[in-house]
Amino acid sequence: MPPNVDPIPSGVVFETDTQTPDLGLEKDVSILKNAAPRKYEYNYFNIFWFLFLHIGSLYGIYLALTTAKWETIFFAFAIHLMCAIGIGAGSHRLWTHRSFKARTPLRIILMLWQTMGFQDCIFEWARDHRTHHKYADTDADPHNAERGLFYSHMGWLCCKKLPEVIEGGRRIDLSDLYADPVVMFQKKHYLKLMPILCFVLPTVIPVYFWNETWASAFFIPTILRYTCGLNIVWSVNSFAHTFGYRPYDKSLNPRENIGVWMFCVEGFHNYHHTFPWDYRASEHPLFNMLTPTIVFIDMMAKIGQAYDLKTVSPEIIKQRVQRTGDGTHNLWGWDDPEFTEKLKSRYSVIHNEERKNA
Ligand SMILES: [Zn+2]
Ligand SMILES: [Zn+2]
Repeated sequence: MPPNVDPIPSGVVFETDTQTPDLGLEKDVSILKNAAPRKYEYNYFNIFWFLFLHIGSLYGIYLALTTAKWETIFFAFAIHLMCAIGIGAGSHRLWTHRSFKARTPLRIILMLWQTMGFQDCIFEWARDHRTHHKYADTDADPHNAERGLFYSHMGWLCCKKLPEVIEGGRRIDLSDLYADPVVMFQKKHYLKLMPILCFVLPTVIPVYFWNETWASAFFIPTILRYTCGLNIVWSVNSFAHTFGYRPYDKSLNPRENIGVWMFCVEGFHNYHHTFPWDYRASEHPLFNMLTPTIVFIDMMAKIGQAYDLKTVSPEIIKQRVQRTGDGTHNLWGWDDPEFTEKLKSRYSVIHNEERKNA
């Protein structure tokens, strides 16, 4: 018997999924949220791997505070930023949500940085993330937050995939990913590329170039940096699906969470799940200016490597806020008095549209 996946999606991925003039779904999706009881089959390899990573990271913190060279710590931050952009701008905003288009050189750089972050190849990452948006907070959501904070953080990776998640993934259109040679090249060579980029180079470079010890080179820019990257993405799936405000759509679990944003530089998750094809983190211009992924996409647009950046108009956002928001938009959006007309006109979506067409 095929797994019981509700054919009615509980979320949107692309503009083409929307059914109402304010770009939502007709059905109240809060009634679709589900977490049917089940027996988990544990993935012991991942459980021991995560234990090693977190204990190794504690040793990495000890070395960073005691004997490591400053070049190694700086190098770890630099690699972390590259991985964050490879995953945030690459596998997330470009390949999952198609929120902008990128020329081949930029796609290659994003693919290499995404590989360095080792969170599955782009193809699998995008398939699972599209499934997460389309079936958010149901049994077909890979990290269903209805199963609790730990499950949505890392528990889902400590268990075998549920049959509903596999079935949900099968229903996702992936033709654009099959058609992208950069994505397919990475998929084909992932098991050769990933160990070199994520583990070997970040360890060898500090030893070779500035005589770092093997221990510091392995446990700081490699293990600690990688474990931080994992926890940052997991925190969006867990904390930003559990705590915070819902100014755009109160029927969704994803929330605006300033704490997650401060830690992860990504946390305006109610906005993101309401309008996932918007390349920005938020409608809030100041938060976009402080979000490295968005700044990077803007910079790439300036030099012509990124184009067709998609945004949602303030009129649509306003309509949606009034129909489905929880009444906190004054804290999180344009209603906030700190957004003067001057600021809005300087950094608004209209500005982006004009720049795109320039
Ligand atoms: Zn989410
Ligand atoms: Zn997303």
